[in-house]
Order: sequence, then structure tokens, then C-alpha cells
Amino acid sequence: MHQMTLAEIARGLADKKFSSEELTKTLLARIAQLDPQLNSFITLTEDLALEQAKAADARRANGETGALLGAPIGHKDLFCTLGVRTSCGSKMLDNFKAPFDATVVSKLAAAGAVSLGKTNMDEFAMGSANESSYYGAVKNPWNLEHVPGGSSGGSAAAVAARLLPAATGTDTGGSIRQPAALTNLTGLKPTYGRVSRWGMIAYASSLDQGGPLARTAEDCAILLQGMAGFDPQDSTSIDEPVPDFSANLNTSLQGLRIGVPKEFFSEGLDPRIAELVHTSIKELEKLGAVIKPISLPNMQHAIPAYYVIAPAEASSNLSRFDGVRFGHRCEDPKDLTDLYKRSRAEGFGPEVQRRILVGAYALSAGYYDAYYLQAQKIRRLIKNDFMAAFNEVDIILGPTTPNPAWKIGAKNSDPVSAYLEDVYTITANLAGLPGLSMPAGFVDGLPVGVQLLAPYFQEGRLLNVAHQYQLNTDWHTRSPAGF
Ligand code: GLN
Repeated sequence: MHQMTLAEIARGLADKKFSSEELTKTLLARIAQLDPQLNSFITLTEDLALEQAKAADARRANGETGALLGAPIGHKDLFCTLGVRTSCGSKMLDNFKAPFDATVVSKLAAAGAVSLGKTNMDEFAMGSANESSYYGAVKNPWNLEHVPGGSSGGSAAAVAARLLPAATGTDTGGSIRQPAALTNLTGLKPTYGRVSRWGMIAYASSLDQGGPLARTAEDCAILLQGMAGFDPQDSTSIDEPVPDFSANLNTSLQGLRIGVPKEFFSEGLDPRIAELVHTSIKELEKLGAVIKPISLPNMQHAIPAYYVIAPAEASSNLSRFDGVRFGHRCEDPKDLTDLYKRSRAEGFGPEVQRRILVGAYALSAGYYDAYYLQAQKIRRLIKNDFMAAFNEVDIILGPTTPNPAWKIGAKNSDPVSAYLEDVYTITANLAGLPGLSMPAGFVDGLPVGVQLLAPYFQEGRLLNVAHQYQLNTDWHTRSPAGF
């Protein structure tokens, strides 16, 4: 049962082959048995899950239908969940039970999805390895000594290990696409504004976007359908009609123009990954796509710009966690300053503290023009590069990451080497564009992803290309030994 995709589950439930309650119990038992090896969950919500599963079964018995009705999922632990701990992977929020559901959570619940629990993540979504969580590192099911990627590493590990068919994630600089690549999943970061950020604890508000992690493009379409849509409670939500994301999965790729930027094959790229990317290009050519070499000349500036803008926004967003209104409070403060200082020093881990310091510095008088303003100008140039490229091509393709999953602890002493792993993903966030990562092969037994980028609101095109690719390849069907 645990090998089924969301699409297969939907068919099985519709054909009454099993109930949502049976499926939910099977997966909860599997999580209890296997998750101790992975640490992919922070909180399990068994009672809520069984309640939601029974309600979904009752709705089906009453004639209701829907691809998510009775489908088990998990939520990254930065989506607020009513009455359930929402930790953001941080000691700061270890005692925080959200007083409301995030829009994504309530929309999926209304569609009948069954939430099994809250998945582990890098603290405040800062990281690419899921090692900065207060609740401990998450292991990659493909090799337990390796990281699963981050920051949505718990969602990725749980889905890759078949503990869940799909889960939510968020992507500020790659945190859906990169863990998807490193665990052999399909992950989609929608256009900025497509999915509501209301109730999604903010890291860098102008970059953050929620989206689905699943095994196939078909399943990402199903989950995204339940997540997307205008939300008046989010001031950056976009009032655009939500198309049927499953409707165009089978459109032919004949004549589709795929741009391959030369900057995506920079010197840091593992040549074995480059080769797999070229193999995927040949596969898409066989399906009728036309390949065009292109250039994104400002891409080299993306990492420095991102690592100014994201920490700047984070330093501002995280100022609310002061031990008074939210979060951890130190014992016996001697005065208010002591309370702020010690609560924040105790509540935030080292990576979060580093980013707050970097961000506060970049925003401070005298440095603002030199760093923050420059970074914003680079951001515009990167967007312009994409706009020019999309005049020539329909899709942009390249590697998702320069390397496969590294060993747990390998980059601990050198945060910048971890930042460099984001080189291919962060441009989409800086420009607000949708991006998808899909499985494209293995290097030393570890999965590799290919990334597709599309113009604004063309998530359907990404899903179409990935689905056609998946009909003609079987990388996405492989599951890790032991799971
Ligand atoms: N690795 C990037 C960072 O640490 C991206 C994280 C994310 O997308 N949330 O900022």
C-alpha cells in the first residue's frame, strides 16, 4: 500500500479497494517502525489523522469525490497548525501551539487531505542539509550517512522512504527543489504569490513560497491544486485564476523550445551530474523538444545577492521572537534587556544567529547602500536575464544541484560551501519564477535532479514536461533499499 502514488491512492479510494482509515493506519504503523532511522517527523498527529480519515471516508460514502479526499500527507513544520506544535525546527518555538491553521493547511484539509504530522526542517528554513534542526539531523533514505537536503528535508525523506505519498514544503532559495533532487523526488516551487504565505512562518518574505513534494509530476499537480489560489489574507498573494494543473499533463512536447544556459554548467558542477543532465536533454529531444543554448549573464551574482537579501529579511522577520510575545523565554531575567538577550541567545541556533547578524549588518546605516541596495539591483538584473531568455524559449533546463547529497557533518565547519550548493536554485526565487526538480539518475547510488524553470504562472508547463519525461523514464519509480 505504501508504494502507491497520490494518483493511485485516489483511484483506489474511488474504487473502494481500501478506505482512507486503513491507509492512514498502515502509514502510521510504517512511520512508527521506520522513522526512528530517518528522524523525518517532529510531531505526529495520529488522532487528528484518524479523525480526518474517517471524515473523508464518510464524505466519499456520501458521493463526494476529489483526488485529495482521504489522501495522507504531511506538513513542513513551519505551516501553522491549530492546536498542534509548530516549531519551525527551532527551540525558540518548541512550546508554540499555533492558534490557527495556515491557509495551505486549511485548504488541504477542506479538500479532504489527511495530515499525519509535521515534518522536520532546518531551523527557520535556513539551510540545505536539514542539519540545523533543533530536533536533530534528518537522514537520507538512500544512504543514512548522507543529508536529505534542506530545508524541507523531513518532507523529502518521509516521501522518499514511502512513509507518505506527498508532503508540503517551502522554497526560499531551493528548499523544495534541492531536497527533491537529493532524494529522488519531484518538487515544485510555484510562482511567487501563487500559494498563500498566510500562516507560513516567514524566513525571507519576498522569496518564500510553499509547494508540493511528491514522487511524480502527476502527484505534484494534485497537491498543488489543493494549495494554490488567491488569499486576501496574504498581501502578496496574486489574484490569478488557478488552472487545472492536471489538465495539460499529456500535451505533446513537439516543438517545445528548451533553453540550456551555459552558466548552469559552471566549474563547480560534478561532471557526472552534467552527463545525466545531457542524457535528460536527449530524452526530451526524442519527445520533440528543440534545444537552444542560452545565457543568463548575471547568474554569477545570484549567491552573493541572495545571501544579503535573505538574511536581511530574516533579521527583520525574526525580531518578533523576543521571549515576550512569542517563543522561548529565559529563566529569571534580571531586566528587560537581559530577557531579550538571553531568550534569543538560548532560543536560536548558530546558523539562525549568523543570518540575523549578517542581515542586521547589511541593513544598518552606512552599509545599506553598499550591500542591500546593490543586492536588490542585482535581483532586477537577474529577472531581466530571465525575461530576455523567455522571449526565445518556453522552458529553461539545467541541473538542480552541483553535487549529490553530501555526508552529514561534511560542511559543518564551512557554511559558505553549503551556500554554494544553492547556485542553480536561488535565481528562480530572486526572480519569483516557478521551478521544478525531477529525478534524472544516480551518482554513487545517490539521486540526481534536473531542474526546469518556466515563465510566471506556467506551473502547468513544468508539470507537463516533467510528466512526459516520467512516462518515458523510470528514475522516479526507484525506491531506496530498506524502505
Ligand atoms: N539553502 C538556502 C538557505 O539556506 C535556501 C533555504 C530555503 O529555500 N528555505 O537560505
